[in-house]
Amino acid sequence: MEQEKFDYYIKTEKNSWEVVIGLEVHAQVISNSKLFSGSSTKFGSEPNTQVSLVDSAFPGMLPVINQFCIEQAVKTGLGLNAKINLLSIFDRKNYFYADLPAGYQISQYKNPIVGEGEVTLDMPYGSKKIGIERLHLEQDAGKSIHDLSPDNTFVDLNRSGVALMEIVSKPDLRSPSEVNSYVKKLRTIMRYLGTCDGNMQEGSLRADVNVSVRKKGETKFGTRCEIKNVNSIKFMEMAIDSEARRQIELLESGKSIEQETRLFDTKKNLTRSMRSKEEAHDYRYFPDPDLLPLQINQSFIDNIKNNLPELPDQKKNRFIKKFNLSPFEANVLVSDLDISKYFEDVIKNSDIKLAKNWVIVELFAVLNKKNIDISNSPVSPQNLALLINTISSGEISGKIAKKVFEIMVETGDDPTKIIKEKGLKQQSDPKELEKTIIKVLENNLDKVSEYKSGKEKLYGFFVGEIMKATSGKGNPKIINDILKEKLKK
Ligand code: ADP
Ligand code: MG
Repeated sequence: MEQEKFDYYIKTEKNSWEVVIGLEVHAQVISNSKLFSGSSTKFGSEPNTQVSLVDSAFPGMLPVINQFCIEQAVKTGLGLNAKINLLSIFDRKNYFYADLPAGYQISQYKNPIVGEGEVTLDMPYGSKKIGIERLHLEQDAGKSIHDLSPDNTFVDLNRSGVALMEIVSKPDLRSPSEVNSYVKKLRTIMRYLGTCDGNMQEGSLRADVNVSVRKKGETKFGTRCEIKNVNSIKFMEMAIDSEARRQIELLESGKSIEQETRLFDTKKNLTRSMRSKEEAHDYRYFPDPDLLPLQINQSFIDNIKNNLPELPDQKKNRFIKKFNLSPFEANVLVSDLDISKYFEDVIKNSDIKLAKNWVIVELFAVLNKKNIDISNSPVSPQNLALLINTISSGEISGKIAKKVFEIMVETGDDPTKIIKEKGLKQQSDPKELEKTIIKVLENNLDKVSEYKSGKEKLYGFFVGEIMKATSGKGNPKIINDILKEKLKK
């Protein structure tokens, strides 16, 4: 890594401070039913309609592990290049809260299903590996709703018991933009795998953000604070910056940092204390007596491994090698599974060099402007390929193609139809073009003689006039050839 180009240090009058960050990402497992019950996990249903007796913790109810969720966790672990543990244990994490009917959450503590792994980030200063400490499975809690009534809190247990993967990073992150890149990379990997939809608006992906600071050059980590439950990447970036500055101010005025859990106030852009850090023993963790230790065998893992889809890093390398893309272009195109599929569909039948620019520049501009996903693109990959082919074959110019593209965006029409209907086909008949050129030159005899006596700048003027005369449809190459010939002394 070209470390010298990395410059996220917070500078004060006295010091330069380095920010150290570790993330605990909670990712909701894609699964039709919950981790230990058969209830549906569908988002947005009426409150308390997806709650079984297990989820509401009726006495005597027993949890039964959902094998599909185990597969999803193993798959994700493999996607993070992590060690999969053949034996893992579900513990009870005890605490009292209105939206936790059992009084404990089933989670994995000392023996998680996935151990150490790593994720590679592509930063402007080079690639950087971020260590993964572990991935464990746990149940989500219900949801308390405080803003529906002035004097009541409502509880919705639909989410209670839904499977989450908690992915804990090592404290390897050093700036808000590295965190941005890390969360996006995790999300991309899980979307490729189909293990988490990464939908942050629906709460499918959220993170606890641990932040500490130390003076540049120091080797020991500072005391961390944990900012709970941040549900957008932008808020994560804001919270880190704000929290780091708070800690620096305290340290520079001679105070010390107390390890605690904090909340980020998005309106005021500052963090405030929620509770002093609980210790593990406060949760009285112990193995859940209703569940046997989870044992999986190597063939179960190998089977999942052999059926993994191509992952973002592999696809990126393939795009670079096979399609001759720059790392930047490849990154952009693999950052989203749908984008990469779209691109591959376009280049099935068209020129790669043109295609990559049309996708990255023209199509992305439209999608951004209209705020739509590529899966809902008004221009299908087949139609974009057709458009590109009309450029490659000289049927229309690049300039006219942009006009056609605008119409395609509005109508979703096939470009050949648009070109035909609007009469946009490039004029490439040399005889026709020669007639037009002769006419233009005859109308500008004075300029022709100026040109011939050395005012070569006028060449562009002639081209402009000829293009005007052809309504922009004249084939530039053929026009050039004829015009040069005609202007020879
Ligand atoms: P806990 O359950 O106490 O939150 P975890 O092990 O689940 O502990 O998570 C600790 C998180 O804090 C990890 O993501 C780790 O990388 C991060 N972390 C540990 N030490 C520091 C530090 N000094 N500064 C910032 N982050 C840290
Ligand atoms: Mg934590």
